[in-house]
Amino acid sequence: EKSGASSSKSEDSLRSPICCIMGHVDTGKTKLLDCIRGTNVQEGEAGGITQQIGATYFPAENIRERTKELKADAKLKVPGLLVIDTPGHESFTNLRSRGSGLCDIAILVVDITHGLEPQTIESLNLLKMRNTEFVVALNKIDRLYGWKVCRNAPIVKAMKQQSKDVQFEFNTRLTQIVTQFKEQGINTELYYKNKEMGKDTFSIIPTSAISGEGIPDLLLLLVQWTQKTMVDRLTYSSEVQCTVLEVKAIEGHGTTIDVVLINGILHEGDQIIVCGMQDPIVTSIRALLTPHPMKELRIKGSYLHHKEIKAAQGIKINAQGLEHAIAGTSLYVVGPDDDVENVKEAAMEDMRSVMSRIDKSGEGVYVQASTLGSLEALLEFLKTDEVRIPVSGIGIGPVHKKDVMKAIVMLEKKKEYATILAFDVKVTQEARELADEAGVKIFIADIIYHLFDQFKAYIDNLKEEKKKEVAEEAVFPCSLKIVPNHVYNKKDPIVVGVDVLEGIAKVGTPICIPQREFIDIGRIASIQNNHRPVDSAKKGQRVAIKIVGSNSEEQQKMFGRHFEIEDELVSKVSRRSIDILKANFRNDLSIEDWRLVKTLKNLFKIQ
Ligand code: GDP
Repeated sequence: EKSGASSSKSEDSLRSPICCIMGHVDTGKTKLLDCIRGTNVQEGEAGGITQQIGATYFPAENIRERTKELKADAKLKVPGLLVIDTPGHESFTNLRSRGSGLCDIAILVVDITHGLEPQTIESLNLLKMRNTEFVVALNKIDRLYGWKVCRNAPIVKAMKQQSKDVQFEFNTRLTQIVTQFKEQGINTELYYKNKEMGKDTFSIIPTSAISGEGIPDLLLLLVQWTQKTMVDRLTYSSEVQCTVLEVKAIEGHGTTIDVVLINGILHEGDQIIVCGMQDPIVTSIRALLTPHPMKELRIKGSYLHHKEIKAAQGIKINAQGLEHAIAGTSLYVVGPDDDVENVKEAAMEDMRSVMSRIDKSGEGVYVQASTLGSLEALLEFLKTDEVRIPVSGIGIGPVHKKDVMKAIVMLEKKKEYATILAFDVKVTQEARELADEAGVKIFIADIIYHLFDQFKAYIDNLKEEKKKEVAEEAVFPCSLKIVPNHVYNKKDPIVVGVDVLEGIAKVGTPICIPQREFIDIGRIASIQNNHRPVDSAKKGQRVAIKIVGSNSEEQQKMFGRHFEIEDELVSKVSRRSIDILKANFRNDLSIEDWRLVKTLKNLFKIQ
């Protein structure tokens, strides 16, 4: 009852490449998968296509049959192609081992009528991060106005049938999309013009998931490219390499794990170790399950049992104690010569490597993702230079009350970090209530950089609020000179024309006179520039200022008695005012302004 991972002897040395479908929502990922799966089923034969757990297997025979119109005489060396059934970045990020990607090649689906969209860019970033090869399926070409359907035809043939208008529209859109890719730092080209098929230029295959144009090209390119450029990677190894894609409770089977076996053979009864949140899970395989071959006959909860299964294949594993297994981690088999403790160590390495990215200072946001793979992608992003958000704690799965409790700790250390960035996970009602009550922010998004945008907007807003709060106490530095013949009022209030010699004269700034034993003459109450009220005046400007006494009980100091025309007026700074300025207004002052702060600090003999 082998589900066809390998067939003839000569093909035994290579395993099937593993392919993921990625892209923005509604670009046609699911439809595309249906389309490549469906053709032969409609013709009344399964064509060797096998439904696996979480994946569909396309044998080389089937691919050869469907691509014969392309007259590709090249021999297919790989036994087939294993396409992961759940499109999107979740399965891609979980197909990992020690931080590197196990997906051999990806199909990035782009809707020709929409071009690059947010999740396209997210997918691109993930592909770049994992260094994964991909081809672009430029889908929905049948939506071009006037498209003439050529069912399941190779793309060049289909294109020849189209009118000049359709061809023109196609080329216009293609050019735009190539430019959009270029803006993301990616070179792309129509696959049949991309002779190099090299690493530097990615191939575009126009497709329709509805009428099937371009699908033969897509299939052929996937296998040809992988077998040509990835021989080392695809050489079958008997050492088990297996990754957990999903942890699922199944009626009648308890908690099971869906895995992709990339290399090696799994047997019923094998002792296995998988990574748990805190501890490794040591158990043994009770059942190796795959779906029944005929989809129609499949009864809910009924699977085929296997004594052993060889890679590459998607499998459901039933074993005890899998409740706390983590998706995105590796599954290890304990061999007869293995030390269980060593294997346990190895299994926990996935968790440790992620934990090691937590900020040592203990100050940072709390991040939560659905799987280890997506958590890793999020952490990777947060530490990039453009982002740099420290992380103090992590969690996998829905946000629970206990996760909020951990974020609450940050309220006392650094309020803005009392935040949970939740990537593609749910937040329980209880957690939400506690967070609202305690003042912990929870941001949720299914696109990584949207989390960043939300968090950044929040931080900026906090900064603005803080600025307003301390505005009274923040003293901007200025040095002013009274303009002769421009003393309009000597006291209560003082109104004089001044030249701003240095710094920024701002409404609210306390002013004193160093030459006269630092006497206070009051605060700037208003500023007029050319008879118009303004909030501040910069170096070089000549403005009129009104100064009112800071202290209402005392008589205000008077021009001509307490100070004279030649006296310099400066901001009255203190240790505290300088600290507040530094903490909240660093970017509002120029280097020159900061130099003046330093001069004033020395003048006032502030330590
Ligand atoms: P996904 O969210 O990327 O999986 O997108 P779906 O496969 O669910 O497709 C989204 C919508 O686009 C559905 O209504 C599909 O029928 C439609 N669609 C997908 N591929 C094509 C295509 O090649 N041509 C046309 N005309 N519609 C398509």
